[in-house]
Amino acid sequence: MPDISRKRIRRATIIYWLMLFYIISALAWWFISLQKQSRLLADYKLMQLSATLDDASSPFSYQEGYKAILADKRTDSIKHLSEGLFFLALIIIAAVFVFRSVRRQFKLQQQQQNFMMAVTHELKTPISVARLNLETMQKYSLDPEKQKRLIRTTLEEISRLNFLTNNILTASQLEGGGYQFSMEDLDLSDLLKDCLQDFRNRFPERIFSEQIMAGADVKGDPLLLQILINNLLENAIKYSPKESPIEAALKKTDSIIELKIADEGPGIPDHEKKKIFTKFYRIGSETTRKAKGTGLGLYLCSKIAADHNADISVTNNHPLGSSFVVRFFI
Ligand code: ADP
Repeated sequence: MPDISRKRIRRATIIYWLMLFYIISALAWWFISLQKQSRLLADYKLMQLSATLDDASSPFSYQEGYKAILADKRTDSIKHLSEGLFFLALIIIAAVFVFRSVRRQFKLQQQQQNFMMAVTHELKTPISVARLNLETMQKYSLDPEKQKRLIRTTLEEISRLNFLTNNILTASQLEGGGYQFSMEDLDLSDLLKDCLQDFRNRFPERIFSEQIMAGADVKGDPLLLQILINNLLENAIKYSPKESPIEAALKKTDSIIELKIADEGPGIPDHEKKKIFTKFYRIGSETTRKAKGTGLGLYLCSKIAADHNADISVTNNHPLGSSFVVRFFI
């Protein structure tokens, strides 16, 4: 986190605690003053009562008067205490609410900064690589093998760029309500097979296993569902070792179609399993942070799943890694 943000958070935290301390002290002071006042009033009334002892015509006995004054004092104390406690509870509820929303705001701001940095980096790298490759081919007459290699890496970089811009555009369109859904009857089995084939071509060194039931028909937007599958496959590639296999499965029951993408990477700690679906969230662990990313992929997946009457979750894969499951309720 940049130094300026850290300083701002520290300053805001100090002001917050000082304000809270001041408000609670003022409340305590108010309570003590009221108690003092009611004690003085009771003393004054007792003095007046003693004076009436000399007055033989008074209809009240001293004992009755004394009891009434003490009862009044006790009622006042209970009233002040309950009012004080009520205000204290209100102050604490408000303080917790403010604290949590400010902290959430700071976190989001920090994640947005990280996202901007990541996006800038992710956009610049493929552009520079593609430019360098094209310039090399323009300047030198390379042998066909070298030329082929340069073209392949350029295409890879362009497809990464395409993937990233698609994610950003789709996320912002889905959020802003500007996305034109084209819901149609489609065969999820075919779509998954096509995506897998695309990944096999892009990553010929990786092992993909598949168990795909035929005829898993859903009503959905083909482009969005392709983005969902691609994000899960892209993560499985990104976060698992090169030599480990990636499993894709699709099965269907009467009411549910279940799509699973599992890998044998580092897995996801239990306390992060829900958070990874929030916008811009990236796990802070060094193993996963080394990989490039923006923290937008799984957020987009959960949004797409919700738009297709589906839910998405992650569990531990066995013996290791993570297993992402999307369940379509049909
Ligand atoms: P990105 O991959 O661009 O960082 P995502 O939203 O796709 O963003 O994922 C959020 C975080 O969840 C990632 O930063 C990573 O830490 C974690 N994650 C996602 N998929 C996996 C996976 N298959 N294995 C381990 N960690 C994962």
